[in-house]
Amino acid sequence: MKADSETKNLMAELAKWSRKNSMAQIWWRDDDASRPTSNLDWMLKTIHSLEFKPLLAAIPNLSSRELAKALETNGLPIAVHGLSHSNYEPADSRKSEFGPSRDLHDIKKDLIQAKEQLSCIFGDSVIDCFVPPWNRIREDIIPNLSELGFSGFSSFGKRSSKVHESNLKWFNTHVDVIDWPNTRQFIGRDAMISQITDNLRRQRTRSVTSEPVGVLTHHLNMIESDWEEFRNIFTVLKKNNAVRFVDPLELFH
Ligand SMILES: [Zn+2]
Repeated sequence: MKADSETKNLMAELAKWSRKNSMAQIWWRDDDASRPTSNLDWMLKTIHSLEFKPLLAAIPNLSSRELAKALETNGLPIAVHGLSHSNYEPADSRKSEFGPSRDLHDIKKDLIQAKEQLSCIFGDSVIDCFVPPWNRIREDIIPNLSELGFSGFSSFGKRSSKVHESNLKWFNTHVDVIDWPNTRQFIGRDAMISQITDNLRRQRTRSVTSEPVGVLTHHLNMIESDWEEFRNIFTVLKKNNAVRFVDPLELFH
């Protein structure tokens, strides 16, 4: 069965980490938090049963006090996810809130406002980490992030060469569990395991120091049965001695 072969590949990969006496590090980020929904509840249940916290990227202009209340007892660290998650780029370009079409001055103003607004709603739960909507931002703004109050940054995929000049705690996500071009739903168990395995292999065989593999979820696009599959995969990982789940606060604080 295909499912079995994916798990076998993952186990074989983790065995290689074990033989190297290394720990495969995994962290988790969830994007687009704005209000309490049943989708959010399903994720919160998953967090509770796994005893593993994601970094929650919340949209300042869309976040409500009701969301803050719903999260009160969970103690999730909250990152700044844009200001309004609006696209300013032309229709034929890739979407971005802080892309090349915008004036640098306006971007800076929005970034400062975004953090202030989110802190008003979530208080101390907000950490100094910026997550650009659609994982995209004008590269020339990155060196300015620290003076705008951000010590951390997270997007998707390979880190840009700006990582060295940015002075930021920069940790990306690498496994996107939503099939954006087609269904806009969960990619399913097999694809998720296979992406995790591929990324672990990439980290293990890197010549430079490896970084934790980041798993990216969007709870609004996931239903209860998706979280069941997600939980099962994470439970398998958690039981493995070669895996360490990394708390986002460890990375960004
Ligand atoms: Zn987003």
